[in-house]
Amino acid sequence: MDKDKRHTKRMKSKKSVIDANIKKADKEKGLLLVLTGNGKGKSSSAFGMVARALGHGMKVGVCQFIKSRTDTGEEAFFNKHENCDWHVLGDGFTWDTQDRTQDIATSEKGWAVAQNMLSDSSYDLVVLDELTYLLSYKYLEESQVLADIKSRSPMQHVVVTGRGATSELIGNADTVSEIADVKHAYRDGIQAQKGIDL
Ligand code: ATP
Ligand code: MG
Repeated sequence: MDKDKRHTKRMKSKKSVIDANIKKADKEKGLLLVLTGNGKGKSSSAFGMVARALGHGMKVGVCQFIKSRTDTGEEAFFNKHENCDWHVLGDGFTWDTQDRTQDIATSEKGWAVAQNMLSDSSYDLVVLDELTYLLSYKYLEESQVLADIKSRSPMQHVVVTGRGATSELIGNADTVSEIADVKHAYRDGIQAQKGIDL
């Protein structure tokens, strides 16, 4: 009984602290989120936010850099949605193309698509999937990319995914998560599984 009372008291005081913090966070703005790190879950987290935004009737644009496959479950699902524009803008992985000049040309063409979304205030959420590689390989001018992101409309949200986010990108972001690689089935010889990895 005593234990129950103590619990109720503790929860009451906890609730007042949480409520006060919620009240303090009263601002609204378009956010820049960065999902980085070596663990699995960066792109799938971004696509989770795509689902949330579409559920609210928001308009979403997705740019997939690096990857060239168009047979993923996420594309099949979201591309059908009238409020979602999905662009696969990659040529494959750098170790597949093995051609830096081609990678740069592909990146610049892809970035032009992203620029159009960033300068179009009708997009409420823009996902720039695997963008970090284009910055770390210097396929794109980072200062230009950051300037384009910064000058987007004030209420537009942007999610950037990919390993090895640069410190400049992190510095510009509002929310940054680094996903750690604790374990991955791939190292046990298990191939990418439909519904989980693609
Ligand atoms: P996901 O799209 O599953 O959320 P991700 O965006 O975090 O993954 P990427 O680096 O984009 O990770 O890799 C995409 C693919 O590589 C997915 O099939 C994913 O399962 C796999 N993968 C991610 N992290 C690892 C890892 N640490 N080791 C091996 N494979 C990985
Ligand atoms: Mg990814």
